[in-house]
Amino acid sequence: MTKHIFVTGGVVSSLGKGLTAASIGCILENCGLRVRMQKLDPYINVDPGTMNPYQHGEVYVLDDGSEMDLDLGHYERFTSAPLTADCNYTTGKIYSSVISKERAGDYLGQTVQVIPHITDEIKAAIDRLSVDGVDVVITEIGGTVGDIESLPFLEAIRQYSLEQPAGDCLFLHLTLLVYLSASGELKTKPTQQSVGRLREIGIQPDILVCRTEKPMTDEMRRKISLFCNVRPEAVIEEQDVDHSIYELPLMLKREGLHQLIGEHLGLTLPEPDLTAWEGILKTVLATDREVEIAVAGKYMELHDAYKSIYESMAHAGIANGVRIKLRKVSSDDLTEDNVDEVLRGVHGILVPGGFGGRGCEGKVAAVQYARENRIPYLGLCYGMHMAVIEFARNVCGLEGANSTEIDSATPHPVICMLDEQLQITDMGGTMRLGAQRCKLLPGRARAAYEADEVSERHRHRYEFNNVYRDRLEAKGMAFTGVSVDKNLVEIVEIPDHPWFVAVQYHPEFRSKPTVAHPLFRDFVAAVAEEATQPDSAPAPRPVARPVGYTAREGEQR
Ligand code: GLN
Repeated sequence: MTKHIFVTGGVVSSLGKGLTAASIGCILENCGLRVRMQKLDPYINVDPGTMNPYQHGEVYVLDDGSEMDLDLGHYERFTSAPLTADCNYTTGKIYSSVISKERAGDYLGQTVQVIPHITDEIKAAIDRLSVDGVDVVITEIGGTVGDIESLPFLEAIRQYSLEQPAGDCLFLHLTLLVYLSASGELKTKPTQQSVGRLREIGIQPDILVCRTEKPMTDEMRRKISLFCNVRPEAVIEEQDVDHSIYELPLMLKREGLHQLIGEHLGLTLPEPDLTAWEGILKTVLATDREVEIAVAGKYMELHDAYKSIYESMAHAGIANGVRIKLRKVSSDDLTEDNVDEVLRGVHGILVPGGFGGRGCEGKVAAVQYARENRIPYLGLCYGMHMAVIEFARNVCGLEGANSTEIDSATPHPVICMLDEQLQITDMGGTMRLGAQRCKLLPGRARAAYEADEVSERHRHRYEFNNVYRDRLEAKGMAFTGVSVDKNLVEIVEIPDHPWFVAVQYHPEFRSKPTVAHPLFRDFVAAVAEEATQPDSAPAPRPVARPVGYTAREGEQR
């Protein structure tokens, strides 16, 4: 019989519900249980694929091509639970299913309502994960208790627990203890009120996890217990982690969370074996060497926009025994003229995925700086497009070379729309998405993977234009990965460079703290090598050239 843990959040958003849910998954898996992870999101978009990163942060892509909430990234990094389209439901996805059933006549004669039709659909979504052999499903409810749009989800989990055998469901509420620095006090009132809202709708939390900057006293624990109707030992604290988010499972184990969960769900759980996570923390603590990597993108003030990339770099840092210092560079502000000033001294440069023309010339300038100064470069998706454009313009002399995404009238469309995309008009879920097989040819990528073929996750509409392949190859760009099915270019490299690899896919969705992704690992190894150079601050570039200089100049270099 599958058991259920429902994770809700109160007081404020961004409390780290996703990380907490993922850490619980990690602990239970390491107690030997088979776990599944799921997120229910109250917004109306069918999936986050059409949202701007400012609204939502990164869009996380699964093997099956589903575009998902970034918390699913935490689930994959902390657990080995397989993730599919059933692991993230939004209000939009639930409603569109109910509305299509209504149109098909499935509810003939009935008035279709939030209760029971929407709540039934939500419960069916939860049930889809409780299949044979699964011990525990952890379902995180997005948003904050008290939001109008969360109500159907909370009502559905309330009903769900009532319909399960007693003791099979557990409600865990993550809340904030507010610290008033002026009086040096921790306040519990917002927590009391948030639990009050939950109890009003019929949910009594079994465990309260209190995010707090300062340690919680016994007296506070008793007070929270009294006002929230939760046993004092089930009020546990989650202090801000000092060194790494990968400390969280260790902290929650110390707080005895697995014992509480075991007692509540009637499971006899052994102590979780978190040796691997202890090892990660030990490495993080022992690392004193720092390397600096510039990331040139559009949403640099928003850490969540490139979450999986930053995490993948941290994993690669752990694998190489170095700490990664990020230099977040806004590509909007980066120009040919200031690129040296802005990027001088970095040991590696990464250009992430992106959409649309804003900031693209800044990204091209960053690639040029990496190529000319022989600084390790990793380009991801749009970062590969920028690498191709830069090489076409500045090495092959294809003046005005561009992607048709940016300039539809470019004389040299080195990146153009995939044929299969030309007829598509809908924006949601219509890109080339999910895991695609890629054949590897000799080069740095193949050396990193130590394989002839890999499967990596995609999310794009534009691709390398094979018409230009020979011209770029003749000037020293190598095409070291192609799709197995369609001969699409998946990886480009510059062999005559310390480490220059750009890929059409998103390796950041496959990295784990325990096993860094091979490309990130080798990129950071090259970065660490660069940092050992006597004067690792690169020399100023010989000549500042305007973007798109002529073929002859390109040939002289
Ligand atoms: N905008 C580009 C495309 O659609 C790149 C997408 C990306 O970086 N994920 O092909």
